Amino acid sequence: MATRKRVTILGSGPAGYTAAIYAAMAGLEPLLIHGPSTGGQLMLTTTVENFPGFANGIMGPDLMEETRKQAERLGTEFLQDLAESVDLSAQPFLVKTASQEILTDSLIIATGASAKQLGLASEKSLIGRGVSYCATCDGFFFKDKIVYVVGGGDSAMEEATVLAARAKTVTIIHRGDSFKASQRMIDKAKREPKISFSLNSVVEDILDAGKGEVTGIKVKDLKTGDVQELPADGVFIAIGHQPNTELFKEQLELTESGYIMTDGVKTSVAGVFAAGDVMDERYKQAIVAAGNGSSAALEARWFLSEKDAESSAS
Ligand code: NDP
Repeated sequence: MATRKRVTILGSGPAGYTAAIYAAMAGLEPLLIHGPSTGGQLMLTTTVENFPGFANGIMGPDLMEETRKQAERLGTEFLQDLAESVDLSAQPFLVKTASQEILTDSLIIATGASAKQLGLASEKSLIGRGVSYCATCDGFFFKDKIVYVVGGGDSAMEEATVLAARAKTVTIIHRGDSFKASQRMIDKAKREPKISFSLNSVVEDILDAGKGEVTGIKVKDLKTGDVQELPADGVFIAIGHQPNTELFKEQLELTESGYIMTDGVKTSVAGVFAAGDVMDERYKQAIVAAGNGSSAALEARWFLSEKDAESSAS
């Protein structure tokens, strides 16, 4: 038999947890569904310097753990189980997970975004065998090794800085001739003697899929067209993220790049709200996601009050 909820939240990053805090404070007894890993992208980062309230910064995983405890203390119910499908065509909405069916009067989508891939066949087959998307998670395995980081944003700078603590050398490979990263992060990477930079370059292939481990990379210089084969033990891809909107493709309006289209936090279906990186193509900041989460919970509360008023009037 399906469980009935007033508010169901999908996702456990800053947006999902903050939505849970606000919904719980409103007495809506929210259910928050999350996958095997909780906390979202901040679980994969080190010090967060720009989240207000922490004079000396805070570690991303600590921030998320505290926020989760806050949501729990205030009355959020957590379900660890991936949502496999949703039906948003009629009220109440139906969320199916591997183990449960949940009927919910409102839904807050905070499923975030996932790391983008370069799209090379060798990249796919070497994931976990030298190809990684998270230096904080996997950097440990590259002590005294030769590693490359692909990308030119803050993530690439951060990944390189994390890796430099253990690796022998770290080279950032970037397709452009200037970085998208903030000057502060670039300066931090430049101060690290183990880090070097290869601009106007792209990774054409990662070797050696046949051996089942990373042994080298093929890098193309975009200015000269030259392709070089270089020894490598690890390749960290840090080229941004794509929104996790697969479940909602046929049911909600999405932007051209696949984010949930919103008016504020309202989606194209009344009673369904979206918060955080799943709908935020522009800012992609934890504090913005948290703000969206609170707005989504407030909107859900107002939506439910109106619905209650309508049904008691009829
Ligand atoms: P960004 O979108 O900022 O940067 C992605 C980078 O990858 C760009 O330099 C882009 O190149 C490059 N790129 C994209 N696609 C490809 C491709 N197919 N091949 C090669 N290169 C590619 O993503 P980030 O993940 O770096 O950052 C996302 C957000 O998170 C930002 O707002 C950032 O500030 C924030 N952040 C903050 C951190 C902190 O404060 N500690 C740490 C990490 C991220 P091009 O420049 O040519 O477009």
